[in-house]
Amino acid sequence: MGWLHRRGLQQLVAETPLTRSVLDQEPSALAACGVQALALDFDGVLAPHAADQPLPEVTDWLRRAVVVFGAERVCILSNRPYGPRVEWFAVHFPGVRFVSGVRKKPYPDGLIKTGELASVPLSSILMVDDRLLTGCLSALLAGARPCYIRNPFRSYQHHPVKELFFMLLRWAERCFVLLP
Ligand SMILES: [Mg+2]
Repeated sequence: MGWLHRRGLQQLVAETPLTRSVLDQEPSALAACGVQALALDFDGVLAPHAADQPLPEVTDWLRRAVVVFGAERVCILSNRPYGPRVEWFAVHFPGVRFVSGVRKKPYPDGLIKTGELASVPLSSILMVDDRLLTGCLSALLAGARPCYIRNPFRSYQHHPVKELFFMLLRWAERCFVLLP
Protein backbone atom coordinates (compact mmCIF):
# COMPACT_ATOMS: atom_id res chain seq x y z
CA MET A 1 0.00 0.00 0.00
CA GLY A 2 2.95 2.29 0.65
CA TRP A 3 3.99 1.81 -2.94
CA LEU A 4 0.48 2.53 -4.26
CA HIS A 5 0.23 5.68 -2.13
CA ARG A 6 3.77 6.90 -2.74
CA ARG A 7 2.57 9.95 -4.72
CA GLY A 8 0.60 11.17 -1.70
CA LEU A 9 3.54 10.40 0.57
CA GLN A 10 5.95 12.16 -1.83
CA GLN A 11 3.77 15.24 -1.71
CA LEU A 12 3.76 15.08 2.08
CA VAL A 13 7.58 14.93 2.20
CA ALA A 14 7.86 17.79 -0.31
CA GLU A 15 5.55 20.12 1.61
CA THR A 16 6.89 19.36 5.10
CA PRO A 17 9.60 21.66 6.49
CA LEU A 18 12.69 19.88 7.83
CA THR A 19 12.08 21.47 11.22
CA ARG A 20 8.48 20.24 11.63
CA SER A 21 7.73 19.07 15.17
CA VAL A 22 4.44 18.82 17.03
CA LEU A 23 5.24 22.11 18.79
CA ASP A 24 4.89 24.20 15.62
CA GLN A 25 1.36 22.85 15.15
CA GLU A 26 -0.56 25.21 17.42
CA PRO A 27 -3.90 23.57 18.35
CA SER A 28 -5.95 26.74 17.79
CA ALA A 29 -4.46 27.13 14.29
CA LEU A 30 -5.24 23.48 13.50
CA ALA A 31 -8.83 23.95 14.61
CA ALA A 32 -9.09 27.03 12.38
CA CYS A 33 -8.11 24.78 9.44
CA GLY A 34 -11.00 22.39 10.15
CA VAL A 35 -9.23 19.81 12.32
CA GLN A 36 -11.70 18.47 14.90
CA ALA A 37 -9.67 15.71 16.54
CA LEU A 38 -6.05 14.65 16.95
CA ALA A 39 -4.55 11.18 16.67
CA LEU A 40 -1.07 11.49 18.12
CA ASP A 41 1.74 9.05 17.75
CA PHE A 42 3.89 8.84 20.89
CA ASP A 43 7.48 7.84 20.09
CA GLY A 44 9.29 10.65 18.31
CA VAL A 45 6.21 12.90 18.33
CA LEU A 46 5.53 13.50 22.04
CA ALA A 47 8.89 12.30 23.37
CA PRO A 48 12.05 10.43 22.35
CA HIS A 49 11.72 6.74 21.60
CA ALA A 50 10.54 4.49 24.47
CA ALA A 51 10.04 7.39 26.91
CA ASP A 52 7.52 7.00 29.72
CA GLN A 53 5.97 10.43 29.40
CA PRO A 54 5.81 13.41 27.01
CA LEU A 55 8.47 16.12 27.20
CA PRO A 56 7.53 19.08 29.45
CA GLU A 57 7.02 21.49 26.51
CA VAL A 58 4.82 18.89 24.82
CA THR A 59 2.79 18.52 28.02
CA ASP A 60 2.02 22.25 27.81
CA TRP A 61 1.07 21.82 24.17
CA LEU A 62 -1.22 18.90 25.12
CA ARG A 63 -2.96 21.09 27.68
CA ARG A 64 -3.70 23.65 24.97
CA ALA A 65 -4.88 20.88 22.64
CA VAL A 66 -7.31 19.60 25.28
CA VAL A 67 -8.69 23.13 25.78
CA VAL A 68 -9.23 23.55 22.03
CA PHE A 69 -10.52 20.10 21.06
CA GLY A 70 -11.73 18.58 24.34
CA ALA A 71 -9.98 15.60 25.94
CA GLU A 72 -12.24 13.09 24.17
CA ARG A 73 -10.98 14.39 20.85
CA VAL A 74 -7.31 13.98 21.62
CA CYS A 75 -6.28 10.35 21.19
CA ILE A 76 -2.90 8.65 21.39
CA LEU A 77 -2.47 6.27 18.49
CA SER A 78 0.81 4.49 19.14
CA ASN A 79 1.94 1.04 18.11
CA ARG A 80 3.21 0.76 21.71
CA PRO A 81 0.00 1.59 23.68
CA TYR A 82 1.15 0.03 26.96
CA GLY A 83 3.42 0.52 29.95
CA PRO A 84 4.09 3.55 32.18
CA ARG A 85 3.08 6.05 29.46
CA VAL A 86 -0.53 4.85 29.69
CA GLU A 87 -0.48 5.29 33.47
CA TRP A 88 1.06 8.76 33.11
CA PHE A 89 -1.77 9.86 30.82
CA ALA A 90 -4.39 8.35 33.14
CA VAL A 91 -3.04 10.59 35.93
CA HIS A 92 -2.32 13.81 34.01
CA PHE A 93 -4.82 13.71 31.15
CA PRO A 94 -7.59 11.37 32.33
CA GLY A 95 -9.87 12.11 29.38
CA VAL A 96 -7.22 11.45 26.72
CA ARG A 97 -7.43 7.89 25.49
CA PHE A 98 -4.91 5.47 24.07
CA VAL A 99 -6.45 3.74 21.08
CA SER A 100 -5.74 0.05 21.56
CA GLY A 101 -7.11 -3.34 20.60
CA VAL A 102 -6.79 -2.54 16.90
CA ARG A 103 -4.45 -3.69 14.16
CA LYS A 104 -1.27 -1.63 14.19
CA LYS A 105 -0.56 1.28 11.86
CA PRO A 106 -0.48 1.44 8.84
CA TYR A 107 -3.81 -0.39 9.05
CA PRO A 108 -6.46 2.34 9.17
CA ASP A 109 -8.31 0.59 12.04
CA GLY A 110 -6.88 2.85 14.76
CA LEU A 111 -8.02 5.98 12.95
CA ILE A 112 -11.45 4.51 12.30
CA LYS A 113 -11.73 3.80 16.03
CA THR A 114 -10.50 7.34 16.78
CA GLY A 115 -13.32 8.70 14.61
CA GLU A 116 -15.83 6.60 16.55
CA LEU A 117 -14.44 7.60 19.96
CA ALA A 118 -14.30 11.29 19.04
CA SER A 119 -17.57 11.28 17.04
CA VAL A 120 -16.02 13.20 14.16
CA PRO A 121 -15.60 12.42 10.45
CA LEU A 122 -12.28 10.82 9.47
CA SER A 123 -11.54 13.74 7.14
CA SER A 124 -11.36 16.04 10.18
CA ILE A 125 -8.82 13.93 12.11
CA LEU A 126 -5.16 14.93 12.02
CA MET A 127 -2.81 11.96 12.38
CA VAL A 128 0.50 13.30 13.70
CA ASP A 129 3.33 10.84 13.11
CA ASP A 130 7.06 10.73 12.45
CA ARG A 131 6.79 7.63 10.25
CA LEU A 132 5.71 7.80 6.63
CA LEU A 133 4.90 4.10 6.23
CA THR A 134 2.99 3.67 9.48
CA GLY A 135 1.03 6.70 10.73
CA CYS A 136 1.12 8.88 7.62
CA LEU A 137 0.16 5.97 5.37
CA SER A 138 -2.66 4.95 7.73
CA ALA A 139 -4.02 8.52 7.46
CA LEU A 140 -4.05 8.29 3.66
CA LEU A 141 -5.73 4.87 3.81
CA ALA A 142 -8.38 6.08 6.28
CA GLY A 143 -9.12 9.35 4.53
CA ALA A 144 -7.76 11.33 7.49
CA ARG A 145 -5.17 14.13 7.36
CA PRO A 146 -1.50 13.23 7.77
CA CYS A 147 0.93 15.52 9.59
CA TYR A 148 4.48 14.30 9.02
CA ILE A 149 6.85 15.08 11.87
CA ARG A 150 10.12 15.59 10.05
CA ASN A 151 12.12 16.61 13.12
CA PRO A 152 11.16 13.99 15.73
CA PHE A 153 12.32 14.10 19.33
CA ARG A 154 15.36 11.90 19.84
CA SER A 155 17.61 10.99 22.73
CA TYR A 156 20.86 9.44 21.56
CA GLN A 157 22.02 9.63 25.17
CA HIS A 158 19.32 7.24 26.46
CA HIS A 159 18.83 4.88 23.52
CA PRO A 160 21.71 5.34 21.07
CA VAL A 161 21.19 2.08 19.16
CA LYS A 162 17.39 2.35 18.92
CA GLU A 163 17.50 6.01 17.93
CA LEU A 164 20.10 5.28 15.25
CA PHE A 165 17.97 2.41 13.98
CA PHE A 166 14.88 4.62 13.73
CA MET A 167 16.87 7.41 12.10
CA LEU A 168 17.96 4.96 9.40
CA LEU A 169 14.42 3.61 9.12
CA ARG A 170 12.95 7.09 8.58
CA TRP A 171 15.65 7.82 6.00
CA ALA A 172 14.93 4.50 4.21
CA GLU A 173 11.21 5.33 4.18
CA ARG A 174 11.87 8.67 2.51
CA CYS A 175 14.09 6.98 -0.08
CA PHE A 176 11.32 4.43 -0.73
CA VAL A 177 8.51 6.92 -1.22
CA LEU A 178 10.70 9.24 -3.30
CA LEU A 179 11.31 6.50 -5.87
CA PRO A 180 9.90 7.62 -9.23
MG1 LIG B 1 6.77 7.46 16.12
